[in-house]
Amino acid sequence: MRQIFPTLAVLAALALPAAARAEPLSALARLEPERSSVTQPSAAKTEISLGLSQPVPFRAFLLDDPPRLVVDFREVDFSPARPEAFEKRGLLGDVRWGGFRPGWSRFVAELTGPVRLVSAEQRTGDNAANPPAVHIVLERSTATAFAARQGAAQSALWDLPQPALTGPPITRQDGTRPLRVMLDPGHGGIDPGAEVDGHSEAVLVMTFARELKEAMTRAGLVVGMTRTDNSFIPLEERITAAHAFGADLMLSLHADALAEGEAMGATLYLFDETASDAAARKLAERHDRSDLLAGVDLAGHDDAVAGVLMDLARTETQPRVVRLGQVLAGAIKGAGLRMHRHPVQGADFAVLRSPDIPSALLELGFMSSDIDRARMHDPAWRADMVGALVAGVQRWAEADAAEARLLRQ
Ligand SMILES: [Zn+2]
Repeated sequence: MRQIFPTLAVLAALALPAAARAEPLSALARLEPERSSVTQPSAAKTEISLGLSQPVPFRAFLLDDPPRLVVDFREVDFSPARPEAFEKRGLLGDVRWGGFRPGWSRFVAELTGPVRLVSAEQRTGDNAANPPAVHIVLERSTATAFAARQGAAQSALWDLPQPALTGPPITRQDGTRPLRVMLDPGHGGIDPGAEVDGHSEAVLVMTFARELKEAMTRAGLVVGMTRTDNSFIPLEERITAAHAFGADLMLSLHADALAEGEAMGATLYLFDETASDAAARKLAERHDRSDLLAGVDLAGHDDAVAGVLMDLARTETQPRVVRLGQVLAGAIKGAGLRMHRHPVQGADFAVLRSPDIPSALLELGFMSSDIDRARMHDPAWRADMVGALVAGVQRWAEADAAEARLLRQ
């Protein structure tokens, strides 16, 4: 049912010798080795051609310490070739590639010294004599010039001539096929989540997720789950799983707990990277601590350049996310279910960061509230909440599909 490509494993593998690298990506485009090459027109110049099975959005830039060429692609499967074929030729040193973030692949070549990125272009394959390829020209440069240019956002390199622009890997739903929903029961395994009175959040949200899945499936939705038993799934892997599932929507399920106070009711959280007040930070810590506990290294996940890539997709998705919050909150309240006095809040939780999958995190209630806890353990209350969510998701999907059709016209 779900097909996870182990992003974390791939990231780790990048540090290993070439022979150990694996590439289990569900990629959009494939590297075509017979049309890929590194050539050296002169001692000071190196040209790299990467033949692709289809054009994809890409971006090339330089980084220092050590000097590197980085090329980010919208999902390219590099497995047909080995990086050795490109290594230590011309101005290139060691070459690595692999999945970088869900939906993005990265090619990294160490450089033998300072270079200038002369050009980075994509042939889009608009005629047979000109099949899709990314062509990069590097020229030897001085250390000073290199330092001045490295990391510079060269937005012109984003330009992908029309009409060969390919869509994102997940085609926006338009009502012509069943909606695909990824349910994400929070916590699990070594991370039980909130624990009150011998009850754990991980078990509670699993029960709820199973009931929700059954109801959504009956309603004609195609439903996946990031975990189906009490096992630990890193946050990044949850997003990866949603991506691999081709989710139109991701709904994370939690139950909050506060050490103090009388907070009650359900709360919806939507992505907001500016959510940085103390409460939001604390909340993000509570949610994201599972990966810290498990020793998952999140270093590098806030790479500024990758952030630019994410922002592009985010711009399209965020209004859909905002509507998702409104519609779901309306459905929950409409079913007479109690919501928190701030029913929809912004947060920068890891599981909300899919740039191209509208995502929401629902706190069903507060485990720390006796009343909420009793409700969440009551099958009748859960059935009401399940009913509200199914109706809300369907309502959102209809409006979202109508908009998608409108935008296409
Ligand atoms: Zn939680």
